[in-house]
Amino acid sequence: METPTVATPLDNRLREGLARIGMALRIDDWTRARNIGLNPTQKAILEALEGRENGLSVKEIAFDLGVSQPSATDSITALERKGYVMKQPAPGDRRAVTVCITDAGRQSFLAGDAVEGAADRAIRVLSEAEQEDLLISLIKMIRHMQEAGVIPIQRMCASCRYFRPFVHADNDRPHQCDFVNASFGQRDLRIECREHETAPPGSRAATWDAFQGGLSTLHAT
Ligand code: SF4
Repeated sequence: METPTVATPLDNRLREGLARIGMALRIDDWTRARNIGLNPTQKAILEALEGRENGLSVKEIAFDLGVSQPSATDSITALERKGYVMKQPAPGDRRAVTVCITDAGRQSFLAGDAVEGAADRAIRVLSEAEQEDLLISLIKMIRHMQEAGVIPIQRMCASCRYFRPFVHADNDRPHQCDFVNASFGQRDLRIECREHETAPPGSRAATWDAFQGGLSTLHAT
């Protein structure tokens, strides 16, 4: 039997903690989806399509959600029947189709997402500094998984061609977003940004090195 003096390794306990939070997030997902008459996979498809003007192929949606293509197809068909998504010819290849969100789908998604969940309330238990530290830790973990090919490239600053980390001397707003040509702070780093454009691999690696280097300097001061 485990005792406080013979604890399991820290990484095990962190994984256990993340699993508990994942459980609460899944309950929140079910609640939000049910409120708008969908299931979590259907709502996740709307989320993946939101802000993507050219839509995504069925294959990309399946990869994004980590589900099989037949499962993604079933959910897309259900969303199409509700008028929440539509298919259109892919840009540059009229034989291929992409799936796009409709205005009705966007409104439904936003209505579902506006509902506060248990995870939202738990995040507010943390101080501002703790929230910022957690955001950086999550970005590091997500970035590692996406570069390892476990999950697709996420629409976050760390992989964006417009992101220039730690280029400003102002510690409160050290980063630059070239899309809006403005500086921003650590706590404004995005994990899901509709203006995101994926940077090429070499540039992503250089940006990440600069980000890590800036973080080390920040913590040393
Ligand atoms: S466009 Fe979005 S993801 Fe890209 S740097 Fe600006 S805020 Fe970050």
